[in-house]
Amino acid sequence: MSNRKAELETLRADLKARLTKYEAHQQRQDGALEKDFEEQAVQTQNDEVVDSLETEARSELAQIEHALQRIAEGVGDECEGCGEEIDPRRLQVLPYTTVCVDCAED
Ligand SMILES: [Zn+2]
Repeated sequence: MSNRKAELETLRADLKARLTKYEAHQQRQDGALEKDFEEQAVQTQNDEVVDSLETEARSELAQIEHALQRIAEGVGDECEGCGEEIDPRRLQVLPYTTVCVDCAED
């Protein structure tokens, strides 16, 4: 239980560090207008990749914050859907999940 919290906090710190890097990457692109077309095309592709990575990281971060909040409220291992206890093995694999395997399938 406390392991899971520590794990989530580590994940959260990693994600925040990643998001800082993505934001730095996006800000550096502002001065990119002078590059030739081919370089810009590659750059645009990179931006799109970083954009989708950033979106992914943000939604993962939101999920982790949510799971941590539920742990803080003392319901971290209860399913949000049905209120049953989430299988500890599932929590080991997906520490940020807040639903049991049955509810996740719905
Ligand atoms: Zn459930």
